[in-house]
Amino acid sequence: MKIVSKARQKIHQLRKKMANKAIILMYHRVNELELDPWSLAVSPKHFAEHLEVIHEYTNPISLKDLAKAHRNGNIQNRSIALTFDDGYVDNLYQAKPLLEFYDIPATFFITTGYMGQNREFWWDELEQLLLQPGKLPEKLSLEINDDFYEWELATAAIYTKQDYQKDHNQIAYKAKPGTRMFFYYSIWQKLQPLLEQERSSVMKQIINWVNLEPIKRTNYSTLSAEEVSLFGESKLVEIGAHTVTHSYLSSLSEEQQYDELKKSKDDLELILKRPITNFCYPYGNFTKRTSEIAQNVGFECACSTFEDILWHESNCFALPRIEIQNWNQEEFAARLLKYFSVKVP
Ligand SMILES: [Zn+2]
Repeated sequence: MKIVSKARQKIHQLRKKMANKAIILMYHRVNELELDPWSLAVSPKHFAEHLEVIHEYTNPISLKDLAKAHRNGNIQNRSIALTFDDGYVDNLYQAKPLLEFYDIPATFFITTGYMGQNREFWWDELEQLLLQPGKLPEKLSLEINDDFYEWELATAAIYTKQDYQKDHNQIAYKAKPGTRMFFYYSIWQKLQPLLEQERSSVMKQIINWVNLEPIKRTNYSTLSAEEVSLFGESKLVEIGAHTVTHSYLSSLSEEQQYDELKKSKDDLELILKRPITNFCYPYGNFTKRTSEIAQNVGFECACSTFEDILWHESNCFALPRIEIQNWNQEEFAARLLKYFSVKVP
């Protein structure tokens, strides 16, 4: 039994090695940030370097065309599709001009409930509240879905300017216990699976506790409907849906999931006056039922966060992607080399 499955695995690996491969890259932001606990931002300089490598050594393709090639079983080797999640305004003002310079297409997944809102994404708002230099009260109590939770901040109550500067490259989920970043991450974990309404209620409790009203920072703005419309005019840009509230879909009822997918599709179709066929699961979180709903709603493909190459056996409603970080050209090329067997500098 073991031998058979091992042999199968070897054949699978060999077929994968021989097959035509494509890669879907996952970006979020092109920007320079003081803190980036989720490693979402690639600097404009590094992004231009990535595009130079893509332009020189690969076959850039739109996600729509790649999904079609996948369906037809004729993926061109070394195809690359770029995707951007969430709908930050820097996608329009920083990423688009560079994509145009290198003539490379990209798909932008928009969270429609944040369009034109006077607020930041909830994780950015939380960062604004908890990761500014200063002192916080030593104890936090939160009521979440009728349960009570308490945090003793101890050493994390004080966050100096030096701590803040040191956290420049700190990833939230790698933070050391007892640090302010670890405290931020533990609150983030509690908020992530909540429904929008409950999350807002908890955010209000945090705002009262910090005694600071969050502002909308220009650098953290989300695209407005007008900007999405303008953005969608570019022949290199595809707009895809990313739900309304950026919810953790598996924690929602089927009906709620349907509404999140359908409404975000409808919102964008109303703005762009054309069918929206690409979808992306927030946090890469979905169930088998979610992908069935995505099909029923009328999407042609959906992106996940599974890290893998794309080849003919990949599931079109769980497309794998490679998460791209703020790597310099050498590092980016080395990563691509790992996935494609091509020579790059
Ligand atoms: Zn997202």
